[in-house]
Amino acid sequence: MGIFGPGWKSDNTDKVIRWISKQSGTSRELMDAIRYRHNSSIRKAAIDQITEDAMLSEVIRSGWIDSDWAVMDYAAAAIKDQAVLVDLAKDRYTCAVKALQDEKALRDIVMDPEFFRPEPPEKNAGQGSAEHLASLAFGKLKAPDLMEVIKGSPYSDVAAEAAKRITDTDLLKAIAKDSSFPNNVRTVGMKACSPKELDWIADDHDGMRDYAIWLLKKNVSQVTDPVVRRKYCRKYETHDWEWLENDSKEYGDTRTVISRYRCKYCGATKTETESYKF
Ligand SMILES: [Zn+2]
Repeated sequence: MGIFGPGWKSDNTDKVIRWISKQSGTSRELMDAIRYRHNSSIRKAAIDQITEDAMLSEVIRSGWIDSDWAVMDYAAAAIKDQAVLVDLAKDRYTCAVKALQDEKALRDIVMDPEFFRPEPPEKNAGQGSAEHLASLAFGKLKAPDLMEVIKGSPYSDVAAEAAKRITDTDLLKAIAKDSSFPNNVRTVGMKACSPKELDWIADDHDGMRDYAIWLLKKNVSQVTDPVVRRKYCRKYETHDWEWLENDSKEYGDTRTVISRYRCKYCGATKTETESYKF
């Protein structure tokens, strides 16, 4: 400390960074520089200089920099011991999950409902929700067992993400039909289903009926068998309208046009009425 106070107080950023480079890696003054100087270059230089993982962990937990995402991430990336990152991750620090490399710990975040400590009454901005962090960890797994995640993750959004990575159509169809899976997971599987399978799911009258009917209507043009098309017309009103004729009537200055349509498959008819003044 010189006669003008600690080196981190200088107005000249370059001078502060030079001063930081001369400090010991365990100096508390580096902590002060991070705490009181709201300047990313100064903060990053101090983080580079710190040699103790425990001090970096303290920086992350302190809340001094929790609105500075880049510096939070920078501090976590500087931590060498995976166990320190796991400890931060247990308290839901997003930057720690981003920096974490340990596959087992990442897998625990995705699969273990008790990995995280109870949510603190007041989170700071650097602490994410368990579900968000599990999704982040899932994205980092090198070779996740997708079915294991779908069946075992306590987070249905993460299970749905895993389902989206499945390419085996038969497996997707099996997921769609299995009511033990959460709805958002089944939704992913249903995109691989044929109209016939969607009809089957709709008949099951479980929570997926509405979505199954919506998808079936969207994909009904895949059905080439007219008998099946007629069946869907009756059950779901999946008509394919053909225009038949117009009938127009005039009352005073208003003309009414009635258009008649007929379904190509089941013969059902409908009319549309339009009136305009002339
Ligand atoms: Zn029809």
